[in-house]
Amino acid sequence: MKRFGSFHAKAVLFVFYVMVFSGFLTGAILFILHYFGIVRFSIFNPLLLPLVALLASTILGLGLSYIFGEHVLKPVRTLTEATRKVAKGDFSVRVPEIDDGDENEIAEFLRSFNKMAQELSGIEMFRNDFINNFSHEFKTPMVSIRGFAKQLQKGGLDEQQQKEYIGIIVSESERLINLSSNILLLTRYENQQIISDKAIYSLDEQIRQCILILEKEWSAKGIEFDLDLDRTDFYGSREVMSDLWINIIGNAVKFSYDGGKIDIRCTHSGDNIRVTVRDHGCGMDKETLDHIFEKFYQGDKNHAARGNGLGLALVKRIAELCGGYIKVSSEPGKGTEFSVNLKTQQGG
Ligand code: ADP
Repeated sequence: MKRFGSFHAKAVLFVFYVMVFSGFLTGAILFILHYFGIVRFSIFNPLLLPLVALLASTILGLGLSYIFGEHVLKPVRTLTEATRKVAKGDFSVRVPEIDDGDENEIAEFLRSFNKMAQELSGIEMFRNDFINNFSHEFKTPMVSIRGFAKQLQKGGLDEQQQKEYIGIIVSESERLINLSSNILLLTRYENQQIISDKAIYSLDEQIRQCILILEKEWSAKGIEFDLDLDRTDFYGSREVMSDLWINIIGNAVKFSYDGGKIDIRCTHSGDNIRVTVRDHGCGMDKETLDHIFEKFYQGDKNHAARGNGLGLALVKRIAELCGGYIKVSSEPGKGTEFSVNLKTQQGG
C-alpha cells in the first residue's frame, strides 16, 4: 500500500511539474513575442493575453504530457501485451527490465513479472517432464505384457517358454501396480501438510517388521542383516513410516551384491533419533547422488526394470512431513549409507 501510495504521489507530482513547466514556457514565449514586437498585447484588449496564454499552455501541456506519458506508459503497455501472452500459455515471454532504483514500482513490477513468467515456465516444464516420465514408465510394462500375451495366444510354445512368459507378465503387472501405488502415495503425501494418525510406537520393532516384509527379496540374494537397534519409542504414523523404511531397506537389498550384508543401526540421544541403513553394494557416483530424490530418476538404467524412480522422492517427502531429514553418502563399488534423522516427539 505504501509503495502504491508513493507511485500515486509521484504521478500527481509529475502532472503538477508538467503544468508548471508548460505555464512557465508559455509565459516566456509570450514575453519574447511581445518584447521583439512580433505580437503586441494591448491593455485595451485585456481578454487576448489570458486567452492566448490558456491556449498555448493547453497545447504545450498536452504535448509535454504526451511525450513524458509515453515514457512512463511504454513499460505498462509492454507489460499488458506480455500478460496477454502469458494468459494464452506462452511462458517464454519476458519484458525488458529497467534499472531505476529499488523505489521505482514500474521497475519492480517488470522484475516481478519476469520472475513470475520464469517460475511458471519451470512448473510447465516440470509438468511436461512428469507426464513424459509417467507415460514412459507406464507404457514399457504394458507393451511387454501385450507382446508376451500375444505370443501365448498364438500357441506353439513349450512348457518352459510358457512359464517364462507368464512369469514376465506377472512381474510386469507387479511393476504397474507398484507404479500406481507409488504415484498415489506421492500425491497423497505431497498434498498433506501434517500427519494425523500419530501414536507412540516402537521404531526398532517396526524396522524389524519391515525387514521381514522384504524377506522374499533378500533371501533370494542370500543377503544377511547386521542389526543394532536401540529400543526407541517414536511418536508418529506407523503406516507412513513403514513406507519410508521399506523403500530405503528395499533399495539396500536391490543394490547389494548377492551374498552381501546390510547394517542397520538405530540410536537416540535426547530428542534425536538416527537410523542408518548401510549396504555394501554397487554404490553411486556424484551425478547419481545429486538426483536420487527427483521423481522418476534412476541412476543405473540397467536396473530400470526393477523400479520406477519414485521411492526416494516418497522417502524425502515423508521425512519432511515428520520434521526430519535424510543424509546419503555413497561410493561407487563400495556401497551406500542412508541416515534418517528424526525427533522422538515432533514426528509429524
Ligand atoms: P528406484 O529404486 O525405483 O530406481 P528410487 O527413487 O528408490 O528409485 O532410487 C533412485 C535411484 O537412486 C536408483 O535408481 C539408484 O540409482 C539410486 N539408489 C537408491 N538407493 C541406492 C542404494 N542403496 N545403492 C545404490 N544406488 C541407490
